Amino acid sequence: MDNDNNKDNNKDDNYEKYCYLCRRPESAVGKLIYMPNNINICQDCMQKTFDSFSGGGMQFMDLSNMPNLNMNQFTPVNDIPKSQKVKKKKEKEKKKEEPEMTLSSIPAPHEMKAKLDEYVIGQEYAKKVISVAVYNHYKRVLTDSMDDIEIEKSNMLMVGPTGSGKTYLVKTIARILNVPLAITDATTLTEAGYIGDDVESVLSKLLAAADNDVEKAERGIVFIDEIDKIAKKRNTNSRDVSGEAVQQGLLKILEGADVEVPVGSGSKNAMVPLTTINTRNILFICGGAFPDIEDIIKARLNKQSSIGFRADLKDKYDKDNNILLKVNVEDLREFGMIPEFLGRLPVLYALESLDEDMLVKILKEPKNAILKQYQKLLSLDGVDLRFNDGAYHAIAKKAMEKKTGARALRAIIEDFMLDIMYQIPRDDNIGRVTITKEYIEGTGGPILEMRGVLALEADS
Ligand code: ADP
Repeated sequence: MDNDNNKDNNKDDNYEKYCYLCRRPESAVGKLIYMPNNINICQDCMQKTFDSFSGGGMQFMDLSNMPNLNMNQFTPVNDIPKSQKVKKKKEKEKKKEEPEMTLSSIPAPHEMKAKLDEYVIGQEYAKKVISVAVYNHYKRVLTDSMDDIEIEKSNMLMVGPTGSGKTYLVKTIARILNVPLAITDATTLTEAGYIGDDVESVLSKLLAAADNDVEKAERGIVFIDEIDKIAKKRNTNSRDVSGEAVQQGLLKILEGADVEVPVGSGSKNAMVPLTTINTRNILFICGGAFPDIEDIIKARLNKQSSIGFRADLKDKYDKDNNILLKVNVEDLREFGMIPEFLGRLPVLYALESLDEDMLVKILKEPKNAILKQYQKLLSLDGVDLRFNDGAYHAIAKKAMEKKTGARALRAIIEDFMLDIMYQIPRDDNIGRVTITKEYIEGTGGPILEMRGVLALEADS
């Protein structure tokens, strides 16, 4: 079994070879010294081994002849499973042949926004900002350097209520551009050395999303959700290992640095091989709901407007539902984000909270709307599924009550569709089902129409 695995590994030249001792790949440590039993050692480790034997006059090759040390007992480093190995970088000539993203193939901002429109409802401003920022970012990545003018990175910070489409927007952009995307949660991160994931784990996820291809990962997108949860904790005497310290830890990778990343695992330990990822061209997008930041924004706006002749009423902003759109860096700093962190996320914008009409549109319009998915499923059984207008609004109303934005829609729909999906395929005679407002509200049933009647209607 082991032998087979070895053969398999040797055959597969697409994967890097690793130093047996420090577990770094050949591309990082230089040419490896090949030894029996598929043991490869880098020159650094070899030197260190010699140093540790210095004076003893012992030869490293003699190790295999020592009576108590059987080299065969070690797992050869080539037995590392593929999920933990890094693919070799492609040679230069090969790379040119591949149809990769080029300057002319990146969709222009208006095209990108048009594609986003097919999936994401509303959020016009956010879609515009993200399209421009992403376009500029990839232009910068593809031109690499522009003489003396260096284009800065356009990392983003998205503020928006739960279920307003933050994650969805990023997922859609990554799909349009066909770049790897890693989505992580800031709440799982802690300062290095404490229980929880180190900030490098974010890059490990990206590497996994790029099939362990470092080059591909280096131009991917990382989305860090719940970023508001790593705000500086107020009034605390203990060490803030999951708040400010995480912001500090992220600074380095947001800006652009060579980071050693464990391959195929979230944490560094002795058994996991490491590789180096340069984060200069990785686009970082952070998102968060920033609860109660509205109060901070209101306080700022009230302060500004209560001075001078044009002083406004104090409650002027109380009724403004989309006050979040007025967020600025100052408010976020007040919330507990450190200035250095905010400085590395130059593109700041907010998403609107969704109202009932927008939820209705989300039910009807996106290319892959959930209701369309059910319609398709039932059409495979030859059943025509319909919703009347009242039903759409009833679903949206129910979702609004839950206060979790569009996220609530799915749960509500799945709840009432369960019976339909269970009962309808039972009866071959049913040709059309119409979901009504009464059915959603639990005061009536759906309208069922038989195939025979529908056929007669069609004839007449
Ligand atoms: P969050 O803002 O909390 O990250 P998500 O992006 O995860 O919210 O949204 C949850 C789901 O709601 C998405 O998977 C998507 O189907 C739907 N959704 C949210 N906002 C929109 C929108 N503006 N247009 C279309 N669908 C949306």
